[in-house]
This record gives sequence, C-alpha cells and structure tokens, in this order.
Amino acid sequence: MNVAVDSCFIEPGREMPDRFCSASTWELADTQWPSHEQRTLTCTRVSAETHDVRTFVFSARDGRLFSFEPGQFITVSAEIAGKEVSRCYTISSPPTRPHTLSITVKRTPGGVMSNWLHENMREGVELKAFGPSGVFTPSSGPAAKLLYLSAGSGVTPLMSMTRAALDLGLNRDIVFIHSARTPEDIIFRNELACFCALSDKLRVVHVCEAPGNEPDRSGPVGRLGLELLSQHVPDYRDREVFICGPGGYMDACRKMLEEGGHEPSRYHQESFNFAETTEYAEGPGAEPSAEASGRIGYTVQLARAGRTFTMDGSQTVLVAARKAGVPLPSSCSQGICGTCKTKVLDGSVDMKHNGGIRPREIDKGMRLMCCSRPTSDLILDL
Ligand SMILES: Cc1cc2nc3c(=O)[nH]c(=O)nc-3n(C[C@H](O)[C@H](O)[C@H](O)COP(=O)(O)OP(=O)(O)OC[C@H]3O[C@@H](n4cnc5c(N)ncnc54)[C@H](O)[C@@H]3O)c2cc1C
Repeated sequence: MNVAVDSCFIEPGREMPDRFCSASTWELADTQWPSHEQRTLTCTRVSAETHDVRTFVFSARDGRLFSFEPGQFITVSAEIAGKEVSRCYTISSPPTRPHTLSITVKRTPGGVMSNWLHENMREGVELKAFGPSGVFTPSSGPAAKLLYLSAGSGVTPLMSMTRAALDLGLNRDIVFIHSARTPEDIIFRNELACFCALSDKLRVVHVCEAPGNEPDRSGPVGRLGLELLSQHVPDYRDREVFICGPGGYMDACRKMLEEGGHEPSRYHQESFNFAETTEYAEGPGAEPSAEASGRIGYTVQLARAGRTFTMDGSQTVLVAARKAGVPLPSSCSQGICGTCKTKVLDGSVDMKHNGGIRPREIDKGMRLMCCSRPTSDLILDL
C-alpha cells in the first residue's frame, strides 16, 4: 500500500523527493541572482527578535523578485570605517515570499558587521549583497521526516525551511528543537508557536540552559542530550537531521546522534564560522610556490572586465587576482560560501572545495576561485 505524504505517493519505508525537497521548486523564472552578482538591497523594515537579535527586511532596488533555496545565505558588503567588509548571513525569510528577503542578525561582541547593521540599518538604507549560495537546503537531504536542531542564530536557515514548508501548505513532519541560553534569548518564539497551531505535524521544543526570568516555564532546562532527545523525539533515527549552531553545539549534537545510532549520512550541518577568512588566505590545499616546484606561469583573462593577469599554478585564482589588483567577489576563502563562484569559459583548474558548490554547477563549468588553481591558461566569465 502507498502512503500519501504531501501531494506525493511514497512507498512505505522509502523516502522520495517532493516539492519541498526539489531545488527546481525554488527557481522562479527571470529572477536568477547568481552568487557572484552584487545587487543593491533597500531596507524596508527592522524588527527586534530578542535583546541582541534583529531581523532586517529588504526589497531589491532593481525591482526583481528574489529566488533562492530555503537555507541559503547571501554575502552582504558595506564600507565600515573606510574598509570594505563582507559577511555571510542566512536568508531567514522563505523563498515563497519573493518580493522581500530578510536576514536575522545576532550582535557579536566587538564584531564589525553585526554591530554596524544593528546601529545603521533603518528603513530606506541600502546594502550591497552577493547572490544566494550554500548547499544546506532541503534538496541536500530529501526526506519526509525531519529533525531540525539549532542553537542561537543558527535558527535562521531552519526557520526559512519551516516557513517555506508552511507557506507551500505542506503539513510536514518536522520536529524543531532550538537551544537558547534563557527564554528571553529564544528567536522567533511567537511565530513558531503560531506555526504549531497551524500544523499538527510540526513540533517545536525549546531547550534553555537557564530559566532566566521565567522560573515557572515548563520546557526543558539544561542542554540537549540523548536522554532529552529520545524523550521528545523517540523516532529520531528515522529522521533526516539538519543542524546549525556554534561549533561546540554541533560537535556535541553529532556525537549524541552517533551514540544514539543515527545514520551519519542523514546528518547535514551548516557552520557560521569559517576557519579562516583572512584577506590573503591561500585557500584550502595550498602548495609550494611555482618557483620552488619549477612550474610554469599561466595567463588569466577576465572576459567581461577586459583584464588579464598572469599567475603560477601554486596560488588560487582569487589570491593571484588580488595580488594583481583585480579584486574578485569572495568571502570565506575556504571553498565553503560560494561567493567567488565563476564560470570558466576556457581552460582548466584543479579545485579542492569544501561543499560550496553543487555537482550540477560544476557540470555547468562553474568553479570556486578561492580554491581553484590553474592547470592551463584561463578565460573566466568575469
Ligand atoms: C554561511 C553563514 C551564514 C551565517 N548566517 C548568519 C545568520 O543568519 N545570523 C547571524 O547572526 N550570523 C550569521 N553568520 C555569521 C556572520 O557571518 C558573522 O560572522 C557574524 O555576524 C560576526 O560578524 P562581525 O563582523 O560582527 O564580527 P567580526 O568582526 O568578524 O568578529 C568576530 C569575532 O572576532 C573578534 N575579532 C574581530 N577582529 C579581531 C581581531 N583583530 N583580533 C581579535 N579578535 C577579533 C570580535 O571581537 C568577535 O568576537 C553566518 C556565517 C556564515 C558563514
């Protein structure tokens, strides 16, 4: 017997892709915003989520709609104290509301961009942003039963996914466990409560480290562990797990799930911390210089900019371009964020990425410049 899940028929025991899990659901005609294209966003609303978290809602100055997959992020740039600063922020709004796009930003003590956004972003203020990127999306782990685990601002990609599922009218089987320091730190608390009232298959559990100013709150206090997980989600082993939060939290969750016998291939995580984002990072897999290894030089031509520079095969294209005074869009320098995704029109590179590009993009000739070293002369679509 087949079992109806959303509008698809799924054989018992099998999980099939559906509308929510298909990347094509989110591709709106004429709204493509490639990750290397910078657009100007106009702030239309700012709302306080908690004492140190705000949501900034934007519309596009060019009037085009936004198209992205839930869970993806944009790279915003601003000139702060005379320096161009870029940071990635997950789109917290769902792609089902394409006229606006929102990011939800937690203030980082001493942090440049998060504090600048909190202090300067008001209705009418403009912000530059590179297009959506990232593979932490429903299509990376198609499944009918989901477990979302988040902590702090890591809630944002999972919120976009949850909002999208509800907007599509999908009564998805989602258990969403969000960890926060205290009840006052819970982001999107009221909205998630409303969602639970709308969908009998969505369950939200808030785990707080301390009761804060709600000593009588009935929800779990402490940290998420196997006992608490088994108690609230006895079928967690049957679920595709999506996790986002601080590194320590994600490590603990991964260990907890391993210990509980969850299948590691059904685990997906997004980190908000790039290991290294230094200006002249050599990128993953750096090799000795060409002089040291006796390799030859290559010519790199930027087709649209009409610029050409030479480099050896030991450096990434991104680093060589910067040294040649040709700055390319980039953010993480680690093959993670996808901001430097570029089409190679001619030539070949050796790319060692860390998940920032999809196989179908590679098939289309796209490469990440931060982790690609030339193996021939190149012509790039830049
Ligand atoms: C894919 C992705 C998605 C993300 N999504 C979100 C999101 O949805 N919401 C969100 O809030 N964040 C998100 N982030 C994190 C975000 O990109 C920023 O890292 C975060 O906002 C901090 O940036 P900042 O400029 O404020 O801090 P930074 O200026 O980068 O500082 C970070 C820390 O380093 C310290 N520091 C800075 N400079 C120095 C120095 N010279 N010496 C010593 N210490 C220093 C600061 O004090 C601070 O503690 C995401 C990150 C990634 C990679």
